[in-house]
Amino acid sequence: MVPAKHEPLVSLATWQTIQERRFGMAAKVPARVDLSEDFPLRGFVTCGHCGEPLTACWSKGRSARYPYYLCDTRGCVESRKSIRRDVIEGEFETLLHQLRPSEGLFNLAFQMFRDLWQAKLASTRTQGATLKQELRAVERKVEQLLDRIVDATSASVVAAYERRIKELETQKALMRERLGSNGKPLTSFSESYRTAFDFLANPCKLWKSERIEDRRAVLKLVFADRLPYVRGEGYRTAEISLPFKLLGSLNMTEKEMVPRAGIEPATLRFSVACSTN
Ligand SMILES: [Zn+2]
Repeated sequence: MVPAKHEPLVSLATWQTIQERRFGMAAKVPARVDLSEDFPLRGFVTCGHCGEPLTACWSKGRSARYPYYLCDTRGCVESRKSIRRDVIEGEFETLLHQLRPSEGLFNLAFQMFRDLWQAKLASTRTQGATLKQELRAVERKVEQLLDRIVDATSASVVAAYERRIKELETQKALMRERLGSNGKPLTSFSESYRTAFDFLANPCKLWKSERIEDRRAVLKLVFADRLPYVRGEGYRTAEISLPFKLLGSLNMTEKEMVPRAGIEPATLRFSVACSTN
């Protein structure tokens, strides 16, 4: 791996996180070849009895076609027993709606992220100040060597000084380059966090999208695993992804002190993407 000469779009750390998310999630929400806008939950919702993903189809009635989800596993007690689409998808929307964090907690989380962003910016600025000092020290060294060259009489000594100056000049160029990009975030706070926070505030909004890709993204982002459903009873306990879990558990302790230590690990995932380090 060679450092890029152009300004990176994302840091290497961010890129790695994205790869982990993409391939880690692929196992939970399979990309189906027959991904259908008619059945966004197909392949994601599982049968509460046998654990296999539900399938879905249009069933022909006398005068119209009706959409259904069903378990297609041989030997399962629920095999081929259809669940009306509006029932299973309606209950899904209710579930999604329940995951919306309360306004107070949402604002608190938002402020915490902003504080972290500021802290990270401040620390990169400190690093910049140190780097400036180091650069000045190198510049002084070059000046001293130049003075010595003037006084030197031996050709070999002059050549040695020149080699050393060349090395220091390269070092200076590298430091200037680092200083040039130091402390500047790749995007502003509002740009980086707006989409994420819009989604956290109300995942139902994206679920209402016309695009099947958006709706599948909701499944990937909100749930940590597939969702079991029992016909006539509803969804079993859902494995919710970390940000929603966190906002949900905060919900329960809203009146108490917010445990800061409990929040730190999750916020690390949202570290500021700066152009250096
Ligand atoms: Zn089944």
